[in-house]
Amino acid sequence: MTTSTIPLAERVRQIKASPTLAVDAKAKALKASGADVLNFSVGEPDFDTPEHVRAAGKKAIDDGFTRYTPVPGILELRQAICRRFAEDHGWRYEPDQIEVCCGGKQGLYNMAQALFGPGDEVLVPAPYWVSYPPIVQLAGATPVEVPLDEARDFDLDPAVLARYVTPKTRGIILNSPSNPTGSVFSAATLEAIGKMALEKGWIVISDDIYDTIVYGGEKLPHILDVDPRLGEQTLVLNGVSKSFAMTGWRIGYVAGPKHIIGAMNKIQSQSTSNPSSVAQKAALAAVTGPQDFPRTMRDAFVPRLEYIMQELASIPGVTCVRPKGAFYVFPNFSAYYGKSVDGKTIANSVDMADYLLDRALLATVPGAAFGADPFVRFSFATSMTIIEKGMQRLKEALAKLA
Ligand SMILES: *Cc1c(COP(=O)(O)O)cnc(C)c1O
Repeated sequence: MTTSTIPLAERVRQIKASPTLAVDAKAKALKASGADVLNFSVGEPDFDTPEHVRAAGKKAIDDGFTRYTPVPGILELRQAICRRFAEDHGWRYEPDQIEVCCGGKQGLYNMAQALFGPGDEVLVPAPYWVSYPPIVQLAGATPVEVPLDEARDFDLDPAVLARYVTPKTRGIILNSPSNPTGSVFSAATLEAIGKMALEKGWIVISDDIYDTIVYGGEKLPHILDVDPRLGEQTLVLNGVSKSFAMTGWRIGYVAGPKHIIGAMNKIQSQSTSNPSSVAQKAALAAVTGPQDFPRTMRDAFVPRLEYIMQELASIPGVTCVRPKGAFYVFPNFSAYYGKSVDGKTIANSVDMADYLLDRALLATVPGAAFGADPFVRFSFATSMTIIEKGMQRLKEALAKLA
């Protein structure tokens, strides 16, 4: 049964499956066949969900909390999310300004479906998270890539941004700390973006999923701190996937203007209905319980980050911006593009990632997946032993290219 000619919808032909999940699948298949693959491609913490959170999930099952919930999520959880925003940032939201969704990714999907359509343009600073452009495209709108410069530590240059603005621009997607670069937007940059957004009436989407994993003591600048009026045109995306090592539970949430959240609830009511009841109870325990887990995880990442930066710095021709948050490094390998081994030329990031996987058994993600071909993404959400072995293999593999 492999010869079906049933045509597919145009919208699905426009987009690709998530490349990070694809690399992960290839690496897992190699590993299953017995190869000693070192996986640097995963976009999730290498920690178990905390004990008290798992217990809350089990209790929800045993208590029979296993039916449909309200579309935007249970009130108790939305109230707890409001309290967390107030305590952590001083932002005031009401529960009807919160939508809980099946992971942060569905939050973004709901936003795009609620806000964008054909003819609309959405600014996406690149390198970007792999899912932003296809989510915008699935809404019929056009993602417009705005290049970020490695020489500016991937901070956005407002003068460059201005060049990509047209009368069709409807909004911008910000991700700070960023996946894949780990960079953050400076207060000055956010100030400039905020001014443009107010002047032009853009929606600002702030993906804060890594805001608990920040290195160095400085406070993370945020678009909502630029001008209180921006609250009327900003959607804040967060969730427990990264902060509480809960990627498989599928709980994210969005805060923003009531009428937009209402429209997103409509989309959700006609698609997933509601996020899993059991996972909502677990997320409630995460949001209301002790908040030391994200810090413990962050502290565990620090020596890995230091080691990986030191190793990358010792490789000739490789540059790497020091991440200020998240758990990725995004080294520039373009000095090796054009070089060959055994008659095969490495022309770009996809060739490089393939070479590293096939010949060094290192699973990484090519920068092209993030709209930035000179780079390759390594996640350091893995053990120090694997990182040490991996950096050794990386050096050997690059040294073979001539
Ligand atoms: C992981 C991630 C998310 C959310 O992921 P979910 O698993 O859907 O909660 C959102 N944005 C970025 C940049 C991410 O890396």
